[in-house]
Order: sequence, then C-alpha cells, then structure tokens
Amino acid sequence: MWLISLCFKKKTKTVNSTTKDIVEVIGAHVKLKLLKKNKFHNDFYMGLCPFHKELTESFMVIPSSQKYHCFSCGADGGVDDFIKNLEANN
Ligand SMILES: [Zn+2]
Repeated sequence: MWLISLCFKKKTKTVNSTTKDIVEVIGAHVKLKLLKKNKFHNDFYMGLCPFHKELTESFMVIPSSQKYHCFSCGADGGVDDFIKNLEANN
C-alpha cells in the first residue's frame, strides 16, 4: 500500500511539472516558419517579433533549447519569459 501511494505521488508530480512547448505557446501568437536542421544548426523557427514592429522576420524560436531570441530588439528567454513579456506589452 505504501509503495503504491509513493508511485502515485511520483506520477502526479511528473504531470504537474510538464512545461508547455515553446513552439506551441509562441505559435499561438506569432506565425512561425520552420527552418530545417542543417550542419550549422538544429531545427528552428523564424517569425515576426511580437515585442516590436517589424517587416522582416528576426524573431527566432529554438525548440531544442526551448528558447526564443529577437535579433532586432534583443528580446530573449524561455516560455515563461515570453508569456510575461507578452502580458507586459499588452
Ligand atoms: Zn523584437
């Protein structure tokens, strides 16, 4: 009985600590274009930065490291930072 409750606790914890995928979260706000993996980099996405006005895409999302980076305004971070910055911008 003790062992069962221990296993159950462990399983519940894993579900709760699952973080959202950065591509899913950012993709809901920004139209992302997938650039396929080559010898220089892993798969990444480019899109228009939601934190400043721009006409050419300089906003990069990297699924392998769950990070985003804007080459124009320098916005940078993970899923939590993106949500925080988006709320601050609205
Ligand atoms: Zn930007």
